[in-house]
Amino acid sequence: MATVSVRDEATELLQGLLRADTVNPPGNETIAAELLRAYLEYAGVECELFARVPERANLVARLPGNGGPTLALISHTDTVRADPEEWTVDPWSGELRDGQIWGRGALDMKSQVAASAVAIATLAREGFVPAGDVIFVASADEEVGEDFGLSWLCANHPGAIRADYCVNEGGGDRLSLGGRPVYLCSTAEKMSSPFLLRVHGRSGHASMPGIADNALVRAAGLIQRLAAYRPRTRVLPEPEAFLRLVGTTDPAALEPPLKAIVEPMLSHSISPTIIEASKQRNVIPALCDVVCDCRLLPGETQAEAEAEIRGALGEDAYELLWLEGVGGTASPLDTPLWTAIESFVQGEEADAVLAPVVLAGFTDSHFMREAFGTVCYGFFPMRAMESDVAATLIHSADERIPVDDLELGTRFLIHVARTLGE
Ligand SMILES: [Zn+2]
Repeated sequence: MATVSVRDEATELLQGLLRADTVNPPGNETIAAELLRAYLEYAGVECELFARVPERANLVARLPGNGGPTLALISHTDTVRADPEEWTVDPWSGELRDGQIWGRGALDMKSQVAASAVAIATLAREGFVPAGDVIFVASADEEVGEDFGLSWLCANHPGAIRADYCVNEGGGDRLSLGGRPVYLCSTAEKMSSPFLLRVHGRSGHASMPGIADNALVRAAGLIQRLAAYRPRTRVLPEPEAFLRLVGTTDPAALEPPLKAIVEPMLSHSISPTIIEASKQRNVIPALCDVVCDCRLLPGETQAEAEAEIRGALGEDAYELLWLEGVGGTASPLDTPLWTAIESFVQGEEADAVLAPVVLAGFTDSHFMREAFGTVCYGFFPMRAMESDVAATLIHSADERIPVDDLELGTRFLIHVARTLGE
């Protein structure tokens, strides 16, 4: 009987997933869920599909354990769009070329979907009975987030996905620091907390600026102040551990590539992105709205940030209105899941270290932490592909993953499930 390697199996499954167009919108994730169900049921893994609408199914598979702590391997099956004109290959071809698998979602994140499915199938075929259930969740709608995916599962089918530990996307980058490999593991996320700066003036005929008070001009001054603003820094446990690893206590002393990793972990960020004022060329606006993207540190409140931002803007005719506050959750660093990930990277490279990071962006980990207090880490190791190369391919043209990294990720997930489930 021919034996198929984990490597070949993950490659074939990923190619199948890439050929299933799940660009969101509209998503159509059910085609990916059905493909996974066929694969997993053949391997003897129980699966169930949960869908708010038929074409946007989430798949949940379970390898039953003995009542111990549960582990969820979570991932999303939707992707962002792709413009074939910009690509070297067809973005939905799943082509294997030069040792890499090409297609939209190859990195974000059908590779981890395929690796998680192959991991749970492999354990099932081996007859492995973990201490606690191992759950595989392939959810819809992460890229747009209109409540068809993990947030919807948490609210409507909590029993299907509740877990003590969880591995998701958002980390696994490998750096070399003074010749020593450092793998990044995301353990926390900033809070997406955009606000509206509503600037007031007085309207008037645009031919006579002297008689009016132009809210747009006033807003320009406030935007300049935001651009010059340097928020107060605070050192949370994640950057503290990170700085300890790189042997400094002074973030200002870091070189550019490290600085780019550490800086977002030290303070909130503000980027003005949208501005709206007069609708008519000859009317001086009495109102100017500036939308600002803002990311708060985990644990930082909007009231704390607002006091600081108002301090930087000074007294002026504006209102600061928060538009939302989503995310900003963190998991502890000293856990059995951390140890399991660390033992994997050290098994691969004896002198490797694992470093915690706070993600500037948002992932589904937030929903698991919020709903169940799950210890959630983002980790999918990349070694063959440089992390800065991967970063330029995500949501961009010619997205692809080396087969070596797909295999590494699959072995990693098997290792975590075995280590935690012993
Ligand atoms: Zn993603």
